[in-house]
Amino acid sequence: MKSCTGKILVVDLTAGTTRVEQIPDEVYEAVLAGKGLGAWYLYKNIPADADPMGPENILGFCSGALTGTGALMTGRVNIVCKSPLTGGWGDANCGGVFAPAIKQCGYDAIFVSGISDKPVYLYCDNKGAEIRDAAEYWGMDAVEAERRLRQDAGSQKKPCVAVIGESGEKLSLISGICNEEGRIAARSGVGAVMGSKKLKALVLAGSKKMPCADRVKVNKISKELGRKINKVVLPPGMGLSLAVGGVGMGRMPAMPLDGSVINYLFKEWGTPSNTPTAIMSGDGPLKNWSAGPSEAEGPSMAIEFNPDKINKIETAKYHCYSCPLGCGGKLDISKVGYSEFYETHKPEYETIQAFGALCMNKDLDSVLYINELLNRAGIDAISIGNTVAWAIECYENGILTAEQTDGLELRWGNTQAIIALVKKIIAREGFGDALADGVKRAAAKFGGEEYAMHVGGQEPGMHDTRNDPQLGIHMVAEPAPGKHTIGMAIQYGAMSLCDICSWAPPAKLHNKKEDLEPTETMALQSKANAAYSMLIDGAGGCYYAEMMGVHMWKIVDYLNAAADWNYDGDHYMEIGCRIQTIRQMFNIKHGYDPAAVVLPKRMQGEPPLKAGPLKGVKLNNKEQVSMHWKAFGWDEKTGAPLAETIESLGINKLMEV
Ligand code: SF4
Repeated sequence: MKSCTGKILVVDLTAGTTRVEQIPDEVYEAVLAGKGLGAWYLYKNIPADADPMGPENILGFCSGALTGTGALMTGRVNIVCKSPLTGGWGDANCGGVFAPAIKQCGYDAIFVSGISDKPVYLYCDNKGAEIRDAAEYWGMDAVEAERRLRQDAGSQKKPCVAVIGESGEKLSLISGICNEEGRIAARSGVGAVMGSKKLKALVLAGSKKMPCADRVKVNKISKELGRKINKVVLPPGMGLSLAVGGVGMGRMPAMPLDGSVINYLFKEWGTPSNTPTAIMSGDGPLKNWSAGPSEAEGPSMAIEFNPDKINKIETAKYHCYSCPLGCGGKLDISKVGYSEFYETHKPEYETIQAFGALCMNKDLDSVLYINELLNRAGIDAISIGNTVAWAIECYENGILTAEQTDGLELRWGNTQAIIALVKKIIAREGFGDALADGVKRAAAKFGGEEYAMHVGGQEPGMHDTRNDPQLGIHMVAEPAPGKHTIGMAIQYGAMSLCDICSWAPPAKLHNKKEDLEPTETMALQSKANAAYSMLIDGAGGCYYAEMMGVHMWKIVDYLNAAADWNYDGDHYMEIGCRIQTIRQMFNIKHGYDPAAVVLPKRMQGEPPLKAGPLKGVKLNNKEQVSMHWKAFGWDEKTGAPLAETIESLGINKLMEV
């Protein structure tokens, strides 16, 4: 593929060796790069009975097929492994500059197996790769370690670093991998896998040219998109209008959809723009997913988490590689009451919601402080937030006692107790030790399973499936379950996939009542949604580029220009289906049972909420999931891809390459 290097770096930490492998073109033709290349490599090379924390597990860092070509918003890295959290397919995705850095070293991906007998890091530059001693960095938080590793690298070029913090080192199953001083690829327990290999960091200092077949054509597409993105400016001080919008959205039977709205919101506030809207509309879960806004102080929560308050302490905005939108920011938290830190990243909506309304914590300052604690430890905000909310509900209901919680008074909104518990979980100290592996394992130890919100072992993102039943399908059917970044109804409408795909149903107003029914149309929509998401991950694109829609972020034109191909949208969507099917085959190979994965009762509307925008909503999730599997050509009862589907997607042959 002319937009890729055609090479991967394979590292064996047990043997202490590195080698470069050539990847045949057929592989890129079939699955692109990014998550597709990762799925192909891991399916072939991890044995079925491999322990996720053992030497046979492979941790892959994959750069996208469009990364480095000049295509906008293509700097996402996909990190893949067998997940210790779910026992099946695992992946996490992060922005920043790490994905292009892989290509600048001359590789499309770096795959690491084995276990080192002492802490090490991997160093790569134009000359090659070497495994170096990391004793002096082990024990440092992710921000400190990254700074030191960069300083000490001795490279001409400022290196890019992916690193674990305390949580990864301590093998917390909800830990992730950081880059850019605390931006985290958080999901699936990828940090624990890195920690289990005694691999502290990857330090990449290459400066090789990144390939592209027709850079002029790619740049032309980018210029047009950049003009549309840059045109948009919002007047300041509009933050609370988002809460009003949320009230309206909660009451509307159908939602208007337009991907370009992302430009407005994310340029001004980043993902915190979502918080007031989510709280008031029913999208954002409150009080451990148990209440609507009127019962859970929704209006005062929406005021506290007004993103204008965050913008007031923003010192700089930042962009991922090749992104003109720039939804990230740095905040001055030197005057935040709790904090010993002077700076943090602008927290994502997920973090704000998880430590705000989910825990009934009406204190933005504490959330900013927790954000920095999590980023430095390298732990997943979604997973730890759901786990803390579970602990609070258990305590409130007498399932946990102060004796068990090391004296912490875990009450709704008890900010000090929440901070103390977060610190204990990071340090794996006392009561926190049992919570450091996520809510499923904590509930297995202490009880309170009915309050433990997880899907197949992974805690769900901060978007309520009762508000979006289509998302509920993906939360269960996704090979890495519990994810919020794939399959939202609002996303489907915005993407306009019918413009490039002959079988994708037309985007229409997302009607919430209709979405409760299992229908063929819904199944095709959810299939198209998932396939497109895989395509984006194969290309290395950003989720928010996906949401802009194919009329703005022109993936077909981009791929054809960058690779010198001439395929249509249907061809590319088949690639997406192939990647998704390989990920599910990985699950089946490893004994993960898709049919055993269910939404927690609350997320299905059992019992139904008594008030608010989600009042009375009840999902028919099981049947919808079954229809989704069928649409993919997977067994509708077991979720296993059917032999004829595997054959028709050419996967058997692909695995022989
Ligand atoms: S929209 Fe935000 S997360 Fe996506 S590439 Fe741009 S800066 Fe990064």
